[in-house]
Amino acid sequence: MSAEILPYMGAVLVVGAAAVTWAARLAPSAGAKNTAPFTDPVPGGRWLQCDELRCGHMTHLHLPVGDGRWKCSNCGTVKGGSS
Ligand SMILES: [Zn+2]
Repeated sequence: MSAEILPYMGAVLVVGAAAVTWAARLAPSAGAKNTAPFTDPVPGGRWLQCDELRCGHMTHLHLPVGDGRWKCSNCGTVKGGSS
């Protein structure tokens, strides 16, 4: 193996590792015992960018209002969809 191909082999290994971890994440219970528990502080909440002046386009926690729209927990503005 020539020295020129080594960086490419490294890249292949990185991509391969990413594919393996991606596949492991698809498995329902793979590795669940040895990982730190992920707790969602606000069930159903989403961190979305708020375009209101008060929020200054910063990302704030948005809570679902029930009809597919989200309410900013910082300024109370309801925004629609995933925009
Ligand atoms: Zn806001």
